[in-house]
Amino acid sequence: MPGFELFGDLERKEVNDVLESGVLMRYGFDGMRNGHWKAKELESELQGTFKSNHVQLVSSGTAAVTVALASAGVGAGDEVIMPTFTFVASFEAIMMLSAIPVLVDIDDTLGLCPEAVEKAITPKTKAIMVVQMCGSMANMDALQTIANKHNLLLVEDACQAIGGTYKGKPLGSIGDLGCFSFDFVKTITCGEGGAVITNNKDYYLNADHYSDHGHDHVGNDRGAETHPFLGYNFRISELHAAVGLAQVKRLPEFIDIQKRNYTVLRDALSQIPEVTFRTVPEGGEESYAFLNFFLPNADIANKVAQNFKESGVDACWNYYTNNWHYLKKWDHLKDIKSLYPVSPEVRKGLEYLKTKTYEKSDHYISRNISCLIKLSWTESELKERASKMVKAIQDSL
Ligand SMILES: *Cc1c(COP(=O)(O)O)cnc(C)c1O
Repeated sequence: MPGFELFGDLERKEVNDVLESGVLMRYGFDGMRNGHWKAKELESELQGTFKSNHVQLVSSGTAAVTVALASAGVGAGDEVIMPTFTFVASFEAIMMLSAIPVLVDIDDTLGLCPEAVEKAITPKTKAIMVVQMCGSMANMDALQTIANKHNLLLVEDACQAIGGTYKGKPLGSIGDLGCFSFDFVKTITCGEGGAVITNNKDYYLNADHYSDHGHDHVGNDRGAETHPFLGYNFRISELHAAVGLAQVKRLPEFIDIQKRNYTVLRDALSQIPEVTFRTVPEGGEESYAFLNFFLPNADIANKVAQNFKESGVDACWNYYTNNWHYLKKWDHLKDIKSLYPVSPEVRKGLEYLKTKTYEKSDHYISRNISCLIKLSWTESELKERASKMVKAIQDSL
């Protein structure tokens, strides 16, 4: 997945443009910047990439999720449905706004289970946050139908699925708002950065203002701008945007390489009858950033993970006991270990986590192995990797 593997001349050129003008900020300083507007250029490039009317760059993927929710009016006491398998940023963003994360099961897509989502809806539910994990997607038609039926926002975190599509639409562009991360390990990187995309002009303007202290961005005197509402600073810098501008132009090349490498490994593993692959919903095409597969049971999955390590197959994980991506290890959330007071409403709203069990998520995550697809593997490295993986799996059965 990581674009950082292929960092080169194009990235250096874009960054040098910014260093030469010395304008590291994305807004203002029109006279000094020699016509360089890297953040604006990247936003317009991303409009094309993600087939979306509006793009707002921000400082991170976590900021993108926060800004997306805030822009659509999610706040104190609102419930946001999210999956048990995701990055911690999902509940961090929800809680930042004093909203309540409602965790629900995933299914064999490794994304939100539509039936579990529908069961979790209450009068307080404001949004469904679908997270497109490991390069693929949840069953988007089913989730969209539920969101429409109950008049809920559908927010799509596509941080890990840049370049994937569903029925011809880029992942991230299907929900009311989509979120991307361009941190250092994502498919395209800015170093740190993120984006909110939407076709809703009001949400976009809210995101534009909110991510810059509420600035209305009218006219060209920054100091004279007014602030129609409260905001915050989630800005991206010109330096970061410059890196992203070079990387986004290489996205098709990155996806091609991922697809080629993924296919070699998948073909090799397909010869083992005990290995099954994650379900990709009909009409979906993965970004090929990860190869995900299931073993018959958790013991075998553990053994495979161990054998991979011992035989030098890196960048593969069993997320069941992973600190960052599965609820099992989120004791800091379950115990609400916050540096500052958390509202009684959110405390009460999170009580269910002390007792609720997630058999369906456990069933899939405990048997899953997720392997990062790198861009830098040579053909012989890839072949060697495929045969090591096959051997490690066969030795575990
Ligand atoms: C990386 C990631 C984020 C957060 O992005 P940052 O830029 O690191 O803040 C959010 N959601 C998912 C699914 C991610 O993988």
